[in-house]
Amino acid sequence: MTKLLKGKPVTKAIYNKLSLSVEKLIARGINPFLQILMAGNDPASEYYAYSVIKKAAKIGIKAELCKMDKKISECKLAEKLNAFNENPNIHGILLQIPLPQHISFQRITSAINPDKDVDCLNPINTGKLLLGKEGFIPCTPAAVLELIKFYNIKTDGANITILGRSNIVGKPLANLLLQKSEIGNATVTICHSHTKNLAQITAAADILIVAIGQPLFVKSDMVSEFSLVIDVGINRILDKNKSKSIYVGDVDFAEVSKKVAAITPVPGGIGSITTASVLSNVIQAAKHLK
Ligand code: NDP
Repeated sequence: MTKLLKGKPVTKAIYNKLSLSVEKLIARGINPFLQILMAGNDPASEYYAYSVIKKAAKIGIKAELCKMDKKISECKLAEKLNAFNENPNIHGILLQIPLPQHISFQRITSAINPDKDVDCLNPINTGKLLLGKEGFIPCTPAAVLELIKFYNIKTDGANITILGRSNIVGKPLANLLLQKSEIGNATVTICHSHTKNLAQITAAADILIVAIGQPLFVKSDMVSEFSLVIDVGINRILDKNKSKSIYVGDVDFAEVSKKVAAITPVPGGIGSITTASVLSNVIQAAKHLK
C-alpha cells in the first residue's frame, strides 16, 4: 500500500518547536520580525506573502509586506533593501520572486544582508551552502529536508534523482543531499529539459524529487513500485470541467500514487512546510543577530 507523506504533521512538529524558541527570544527582549519585500503584483506571490504573515502571527513572529510598484528601478529597490538591512528591529528579509524583468536577480539578491537573508538568495549564502558551511538553507529545499527527516527516510547511499535544476530548488537541494551529513550522503542525479531517457532515469531512483513547473508531468511509466516520490510542484490549472481552478503538482498524483511506495500530495505536501521553513530561518536569524 502506498504511504502518503503529508505535510501537516511535519509543520505541526516544526511550529511546536518554533513557538518555544519565540517565547525564549521574547523573554530576552527580542521580538522576531520578518520583512517581506515584493516588487510588482504577482497574485500568487502576494497570496504566499499573506499566508506567511498569518502563520507568523500564530506563533508570535511579526511579519510585514512592503509592496513596491513593478516599475521600481533596481537602484530604488536596493535602497529599500538597504534600509531593511540597517534596521536592527528587522531580523529576516524575504524578497519575493518573480522580480520584474528589468531587475537583475544576481545584483539585487547581493544587496540583501547575508545575516538576514532567510531564503538564502545572496550569492555569499549560496556559496556557503555549496561548501557545506553553517548558514541558511533556502526555504523550499529546507522543506524537503524536513519531510525526509520527519518520515525517517534514509538518504545515506540512496539513489536520489532530482527533476529540475533551478537555482532556488533543484541545485541547492542536490548540494544538500550530497553533503556528508545525516540527511545527505546520497548519490544524486539531476535531470532537466535536455536529459535523454528521462523515464528510465527517474524510474531507477530510490527517491524522486520533482520541481519542474509542469502540471501532472510525471506519469506512472516514470516511477517504479519501490519509488518514493516528493512533489515540489505547485501549478494552478482548470479542473476537468474547466469550471474552477485547482492546484496540482508536477506529478500526476492520481496515476502515480497507485504504483509507488510513498508519495507527497499536492496540495498538503511540501508547500505547507515551506512556510514553516521561512519562519524557522527567521528565528535562526533573530538568535544570531542579537
Ligand atoms: P524553474 O522554472 O525555475 O525551473 C524548472 C526546471 O525544470 C528547469 O531546470 C527546467 O529545465 C526543468 N524542466 C522544465 N520542463 C522540463 C521537462 N519537460 N523535462 C525535464 N525538465 C524540465 O522552476 P522552479 O524550480 O522555480 O519551480 C519548480 C516547481 O516548484 C514549480 O511547480 C513551482 O511552482 C514549484 N515551487 C514550489 C515551492 C514550494 O514551496 N513548494 C517553491 C518554489 C517553487 P531547464 O533548466 O533545462 O530549462
